[in-house]
Amino acid sequence: MEISGKSNGKHQQVVIIGGGISGLAAAYKLHESDANLKVAVLEAAPRCGGVISSVRQDQLLFEEGPDSILTQKPWALSLIKRLGLNEHIIETERENRRTYVAWNGKLHALPDGFVMLAPTNFVSFFRSTLFSPLGKLRMALETLLPRKEDDAEESLAGFVRRRFGNEALERIAQPMIGGIYTADPEKLSLNATMPRFLDLEKQNGSVIAGLMKSDRKTSGARYSLFISLDQGLGLLVDTIIAKLNPGTIKTNTPVSAIKKSSSGFEVETKDGEIIHTDAVIVATPSFQASKMLHGLDDQLAQRLAQIEYAPSAILNLAYKKTDVPSFKGFGFVVPSKERSSIIACTFVSQKYAKRAPEDTVMLRVFMGGALAKDVYALSDTELIKSARKELKKYLHLDAEPVELKLTRYPNSMPQYHLGHMALIADIQQLSARYTGLAFAGNYMQGPGIPDCICTGETAAESILGSSIG
Ligand SMILES: Cc1cc2nc3c(=O)[nH]c(=O)nc-3n(C[C@H](O)[C@H](O)[C@H](O)COP(=O)(O)OP(=O)(O)OC[C@H]3O[C@@H](n4cnc5c(N)ncnc54)[C@H](O)[C@@H]3O)c2cc1C
Repeated sequence: MEISGKSNGKHQQVVIIGGGISGLAAAYKLHESDANLKVAVLEAAPRCGGVISSVRQDQLLFEEGPDSILTQKPWALSLIKRLGLNEHIIETERENRRTYVAWNGKLHALPDGFVMLAPTNFVSFFRSTLFSPLGKLRMALETLLPRKEDDAEESLAGFVRRRFGNEALERIAQPMIGGIYTADPEKLSLNATMPRFLDLEKQNGSVIAGLMKSDRKTSGARYSLFISLDQGLGLLVDTIIAKLNPGTIKTNTPVSAIKKSSSGFEVETKDGEIIHTDAVIVATPSFQASKMLHGLDDQLAQRLAQIEYAPSAILNLAYKKTDVPSFKGFGFVVPSKERSSIIACTFVSQKYAKRAPEDTVMLRVFMGGALAKDVYALSDTELIKSARKELKKYLHLDAEPVELKLTRYPNSMPQYHLGHMALIADIQQLSARYTGLAFAGNYMQGPGIPDCICTGETAAESILGSSIG
């Protein structure tokens, strides 16, 4: 297999395995450097992008995977700007910036100023219909509780129960944070996912007090909390691919093994082809990385196999506007206590402009996760039927959709369980024994796109900084 490079001089070679956003970010970082490397991205599927997939159908834009980028983490925005995609950035629609929480079969607005699990606007908080009077009192008590003195790792559930009480856990933290990670809050490590809340407690004695203090310091952010791209997040993938040297991407090329050779590594594809390379960046899900590494390092392979993944599904639905009862907001999340088949529902066409024509409403329903593997196991027909039943219950929406698209991801969401950071440190320590071997992916520092990009770029930098770069 030919590996493409910038000139015909002597090149060092780098193979990147996996063409999701983590692998592509690594490839682009190497491309931006002046190291004159020959790079190949080996992707198992017929297309790159991994779970990122934007499908245009007539005037509808379906995001089959992720649809938003968090702007508080800098790496995605920085890449978007370096790729020259500035003018394609779209912000969320200001007048619809409201989220609801389903509770007892009804939707309740999230109080203004609520930051994931803590209130900062007490007027709005005390008026909220989401919590009972006792629940509100318990949450407000957080400002008076002593801080935790030891550094023992805590689950999301343990932390929220201790500081804010059970209502805050069941009605807010589980659907908001557990929902993002599609995780069981009893197992989700707060240190590995939202260390900011631990820091706020440590530094201010109270999360609420810390948030209110940092709120006063924040001077007008440049973008809304979430952004997207006007043509969908697939534009990010397409633009990276277009900028890489021709021939860099090799699709339909699953890798089966990585072995050490006298001068570097041998990468073996499922077709039996052997590629000799100086360096390898493994940018696949960890369970796939584990399978490739058994011949190289059993201990490393075992550690990678320890990370669990949960399934998820996205159901995109388009309706005639006249068929959809009025709803002002971005959508709603559903706590697991509701025993619903859906985790969340977004009014896509109210969150971002130009996703659908004026006379159409686009909804996006998120299903599955670690707490609802039984839901994911349903057939397509049953899954769609159960999602539509929930839309009827919460939105009184009973009409037939004009378009509908279900996309399933059997092993998509890495679970950041207690002990995750120690496990990742272990993986990094074990892999450091091999010069020219680096890892990237959504199991390392967070599942969000900005973190994936950061891991890809860090892996590329580690190769550039090693003797091969
Ligand atoms: C439904 C859903 C919604 C999401 N929503 C958001 C969101 O709105 N915002 C956000 O920031 N994040 C979101 N995420 C998370 C985020 O999109 C992902 O974590 C991220 O895109 C993962 O990128 P990746 O490159 O690490 O992995 P992947 O996208 O999984 O890519 C890995 C690639 O490796 C390839 N591969 C696997 N095995 C091999 C092999 N043996 N040989 C060669 N190639 C192989 C795969 O085919 C795949 O293309 C969402 C995730 C899902 C599933």
